[in-house]
Amino acid sequence: MGRVYNFSAGPAVLPEEVLKEAAAEMLDYRGCGMSVMEMSHRSSMFQQIIDEAEADFRKVLGVPDNYKVLFMQGGASLQFAMVPLNFMRDGKADYIITGQWAKKACAEAKRFGDAEAIASSADKTFSYIPDVTNLPIREGAKYLYICENNTIYGTKYHTLPDTKGVDLIADQSSCFLSEPVDVSKYAMIYGGVQKNVGPAGLVVAAIREDLIPTDDLPDVPTMLQYKIHADAGSLYNTPNCYAIYICGKVFKWILDMGGLTVMKQRNEEKAALLYDFLDNSKLFKGTVRKEDRSLMNVPFVTGSEELDKKFVAESKAAGLENLKGHRSVGGMRASIYNAMPKAGVEALVSFMEDFEKKNS
Ligand SMILES: *Cc1c(COP(=O)(O)O)cnc(C)c1O
Repeated sequence: MGRVYNFSAGPAVLPEEVLKEAAAEMLDYRGCGMSVMEMSHRSSMFQQIIDEAEADFRKVLGVPDNYKVLFMQGGASLQFAMVPLNFMRDGKADYIITGQWAKKACAEAKRFGDAEAIASSADKTFSYIPDVTNLPIREGAKYLYICENNTIYGTKYHTLPDTKGVDLIADQSSCFLSEPVDVSKYAMIYGGVQKNVGPAGLVVAAIREDLIPTDDLPDVPTMLQYKIHADAGSLYNTPNCYAIYICGKVFKWILDMGGLTVMKQRNEEKAALLYDFLDNSKLFKGTVRKEDRSLMNVPFVTGSEELDKKFVAESKAAGLENLKGHRSVGGMRASIYNAMPKAGVEALVSFMEDFEKKNS
């Protein structure tokens, strides 16, 4: 069996070119006689891999010099704890709840102190982004936290909140490197890479240097202090070497494609194919308010659970995989990350047209 069109929300599709390159280098990485999986993280070979990955990440995203770039483990979920442990400390922090990931991040911060949800779209199953033009940000809040693209619900902030001068921290996991970003508007951006960039288990973060506490935090585990990772160039302990290596290749792939401006164009084209179809379909409906739609995750329903089930089963048989929606929303969800080719979205739309004809 050949490769399918994989619409998984994560771990998700990666560029075929990258996978082929990694396959070719599997047994013997550039003449060193071993795989990247087998080499010491203290070797000059690996140092070159991580240095290049960081440099390329900085180039792709346009990370200013006064930001540290860190490669960390524990997935995006560990950042839910690390962010408040390092930045909220004994102060307070405000959160906007736009779905499960933001909710979990806020709940985690509450374990450590005064974190509060100051806006939410829970009232309509997170199908929209709340008005963020005049938020009740609390005096003295250390940061405002957002989940910029909501993987499960398919919403995205198309305008950043007015933070009223407070530092902005964003979980960009599912829109990571999908379009140009003005990093200077954020105090910290991070992403679990398995949505758009690489294998699961690795997080890449860009953090404004002045934000990182300069002293040891005696109450915070060593591994959870940003300073430890920053001072050690992300090599305090053995990092997720292989994931860093694959991400490095994906950064180069993005640069070769023309960078984030081209990524955005491609992503807009793909998303438009699907959203235009949904807007004109009599059977399928998108579930998100139009102005808040994500370019990456597109949830949709038929209105009948039975038909949804049939759709998921039949689409799978046709080589369109992982279209089942998240269990909290039901229906279907197509994740169309950077590496999903336009042909994949065309195949999906054509399958949907066909399904609609046969089932209405
Ligand atoms: C998937 C996801 C997470 C969780 O990532 P893990 O690496 O599994 O911890 C967090 N935030 C967003 C936006 C996600 O899409």
